[in-house]
Amino acid sequence: RELNIDVVSIFPDYMAPLTLSLVGKAIESGIIGVGVHDLRDWTHDRHRTVDDTPYGGGAGMVMKPEPWGEALDEIASARTTLVIPTPSGIPFTQSIAHELGSAEHLVFACGRYEGIDARVAAEASTRMTVRELSIGDFVLNGGEVAALVMIEAIVRLLPGVIGNPESLEEESYAAGTDGLLEYPVYTKPPSWRGHEVPEVLFSGHHAKIAQWRRERSLEVTRERRPDLLK
Ligand code: SAM
Repeated sequence: RELNIDVVSIFPDYMAPLTLSLVGKAIESGIIGVGVHDLRDWTHDRHRTVDDTPYGGGAGMVMKPEPWGEALDEIASARTTLVIPTPSGIPFTQSIAHELGSAEHLVFACGRYEGIDARVAAEASTRMTVRELSIGDFVLNGGEVAALVMIEAIVRLLPGVIGNPESLEEESYAAGTDGLLEYPVYTKPPSWRGHEVPEVLFSGHHAKIAQWRRERSLEVTRERRPDLLK
């Protein structure tokens, strides 16, 4: 196997999409192994409690450290990279997707409520690699969707997952295109509802097409993501 992934959540059903499409095929063909775990399996009280009120006061609940600690004792090892999705994490990027893809074992710890007691990350850091990562400047209800996003981005980069690996070299954020956004793409028919496919794409002139695409990439990046040009 290329990569083993475990996900811990109080809503394991959220991970059902992992069985679909390219990630599902990667599981079937043995490129990745995926385990989904219910955090409540590591609780010991009748109500299977995973949260409690925050020290210092304030609204909402915080996930208790003990079930997380026991879950990691069982699932993780020193060779694990623990990914904790959180809006206060470092931004997840294509280059982090590449890095995580070369890990041996990833564990995603999906928080809920106001997040996980901070000592879980601190304690895990003493015995494995821990990455606290955000998928964008907005707040979700839980880490499950963030984990799905990251897993899809990571797995599609693994050898054998995407039919034509060249498509990974030419897309947005790829090193092969200097990390620019992708140029616009077109297919048949040549004319559709009064909108035409740019003439140059019919020319068969590879250098001209490459130049046109490069210019469109720069244009769209300058307009939408000037921060990427630095
Ligand atoms: N109180 C936290 C804060 O203000 O930073 C927000 C907690 S959020 C309601 C609950 C959980 O959703 C988080 O623990 C995290 O697992 C997940 N989450 C929310 N937004 C996220 C984002 N942008 N990226 C990654 N995970 C996110």
